[in-house]
Amino acid sequence: MRTVLRADRVFDAERGTMLTGTDVAVESGLITAVGPDLDGGQVVELPGRTLLPGFFDVHVHLTGVWSHADEVREPDGDVLAVRAAVDCARLLEAGFTTVRDCGSMIALSLRDLVAGGTIRGPRIVAAGPVLSQTGGHGDHHHLPLDRARLVRGAAIADGPWACRSAVREAVRAGADFIKICTTGGVSSERDHPKDEHYTPEEIAAIVAEAHRLGRRVAAHAQGRAGVLNAVRAGVDSIEHGYFLDEECVREMAARGTVYVPTFDLRRFFERDDPALPEWRRAKQREARVAMRRSLLLAYEAGVLIAAGSDYYGVPYRAHGDNADEPIEMVRAGLPPVAALRALTLNAARALGMAGVTGSVTEGRQADLVAVEGDPLADVTALRRVAFVMKAGVEETAGRRLGCRPAVSDRGARF
Ligand SMILES: [Zn+2]
Repeated sequence: MRTVLRADRVFDAERGTMLTGTDVAVESGLITAVGPDLDGGQVVELPGRTLLPGFFDVHVHLTGVWSHADEVREPDGDVLAVRAAVDCARLLEAGFTTVRDCGSMIALSLRDLVAGGTIRGPRIVAAGPVLSQTGGHGDHHHLPLDRARLVRGAAIADGPWACRSAVREAVRAGADFIKICTTGGVSSERDHPKDEHYTPEEIAAIVAEAHRLGRRVAAHAQGRAGVLNAVRAGVDSIEHGYFLDEECVREMAARGTVYVPTFDLRRFFERDDPALPEWRRAKQREARVAMRRSLLLAYEAGVLIAAGSDYYGVPYRAHGDNADEPIEMVRAGLPPVAALRALTLNAARALGMAGVTGSVTEGRQADLVAVEGDPLADVTALRRVAFVMKAGVEETAGRRLGCRPAVSDRGARF
């Protein structure tokens, strides 16, 4: 059956323009026509609204952790899995039709459950385990090493061949891509974002093995040296990149390395939550002053920027609020059209999916979101989601039996 969507505006992510007087026809899960005065079976009127490609968040963690206390208390795995499934529904209702999970074993199962139609959620591209060196960002510094090695999803590997094995094990576990840490991080106690992790030889081994097995590599990389090591070794994306300089962005632009700035974390860092330990707050203060400059440097150098929030479920980083990422990019000075592209087409390109989804184009999957108002004039419109369609199926909040509106730290959503 053919459905025609009629909104006031349609965002053309390819050209970076807003179209008016343009209808979108959907049939058998695909966009079959984009143009004026389309007719057909069912017409869905979306007055006052803007139709956009389904949103992407290319850096999430579907963990089921909903509070900082959970991180210490470590609730039962079944509880975490159910909560993570609820987060999938929240993401979908917030307009996110595709997400990339950058580290969570639960996400591998959620991906298959969504694809099989058991639970509602966005299309999930999942890393599974996170590879890091001993004492790296993915290692649990507070545990004895033998216990840290047993933590689900923490792949601690040192040396090129052990790194290759870790890639193979991740692929064996079902990884769609490989996540590694080439610097320390903000939330890991005994390292620093400017520490270089993994030698160039180890990163090259990971990249070679991953690419040989048809997987992309995403590098958690915050300090300049670890970013350059990762980019020169051929990783496909830099996650975070808080401390970029001219040399970093020049290399990234030249090599086509994607930048996922996880920029909204700046707001989380600015909150300076006194409940967090001082070592972490000190690193947050250092990162937050550098983040805006890095974002704008990368944009001006022509680096492909994709929206990834690094949300994992705790307050102020709750799933369903992920449109905060492009909104904060605009507040920092990125042109709205660039933020909308980071949220849609550029994210699809970052995942190698631009031929499938990411734009309102004939032949693409019918992944479509309508928001109240015009997000080019007021980017906060991205939070006012009025209609969601994934692969031709309407997924708007509250429209389906059994789905309850999500609640976030903002109170009632939308
Ligand atoms: Zn992350």
